[in-house]
Amino acid sequence: THFGFQNIPENEKEDKVYEVFKNVASSYDLMNDAMSAGVHRLWKDHFIRRLGPTSGTKLLDVAGGTGDIAFRFLKYIDNLNKNESDDLSVPNHIDGFQLHQEDQDLSSSSSSSSDEEDNPMTHHVTVCDINQEMLDVGRQKAESYGICSGMSWLKGNAECLPLEDNQFDAYTIAFGIRNCTHVDKVVEEAYRVLKPGGRFMCLEFSEVKNPLLRSLYDNYSFQVIPVMGQVLARDWKSYQYLVESIRQFPNQEDFSDIIRNAGFRMVSYENLTFGVAAIHSGFKL
Ligand code: SAM
Repeated sequence: THFGFQNIPENEKEDKVYEVFKNVASSYDLMNDAMSAGVHRLWKDHFIRRLGPTSGTKLLDVAGGTGDIAFRFLKYIDNLNKNESDDLSVPNHIDGFQLHQEDQDLSSSSSSSSDEEDNPMTHHVTVCDINQEMLDVGRQKAESYGICSGMSWLKGNAECLPLEDNQFDAYTIAFGIRNCTHVDKVVEEAYRVLKPGGRFMCLEFSEVKNPLLRSLYDNYSFQVIPVMGQVLARDWKSYQYLVESIRQFPNQEDFSDIIRNAGFRMVSYENLTFGVAAIHSGFKL
């Protein structure tokens, strides 16, 4: 689930977040679908289309969890190479990834991910998450889809990435930054690891401005979500945290300021579903 813990003491937040995602890792995808009625899939599809990666793009997906953004990235480029429709639904067959496999053969590189990362013509996604359990579920999914190249998994904290400067063309973080203790540090780290010209993109819950829609959304959030949490996961409290953390995360304008303050330029945002979620974007120029 898209949990967040903004309302607990700073020194406890990281441990608490870790514990929650460790516990929910195996049911994470199922619960997301149930909670959002599948809408999170549409947001994520749109997010990747907005990024518009190409066959050379090196992406770092932070707080990448079980790989939802990373799989869409690979599928998007496969579709591009095959001139196919842009259905980004995560594949349940190996075909969707065959071209990527051929790419690798053509480049005559070995299957090691560092060789791929060095090759400017080969796209690659590094999924980074603080939680090994979430990464393990993602890795199993990759195996079941037959993906054996173009992707690597890295355990690391978004606030202090175990990566060198100027490595990536794009940095994504989806429903992850709200869970981090110091949002400004996360964005500064994104700036550091991006190459000049690289793009930062964040998908996160945000603020619904329209008063009528906002009150409908508040009613749904505060009354329905914790009940669903109790019924589906026997966990009222975590779902209450979810709702509270969404309210406490900086709104569209304040988060844009944080991104600007980290050094990004051409900062913009796009509301999704009346601002329930928003995509923020900035460039390292
Ligand atoms: N991006 C995925 C998605 O959209 O489905 C996963 C989002 S999930 C709601 C949030 C993820 O953030 C979890 O996998 C959690 O382990 C990770 N996370 C929380 N704090 C983090 C941190 N400081 N550094 C890296 N990952 C973190």
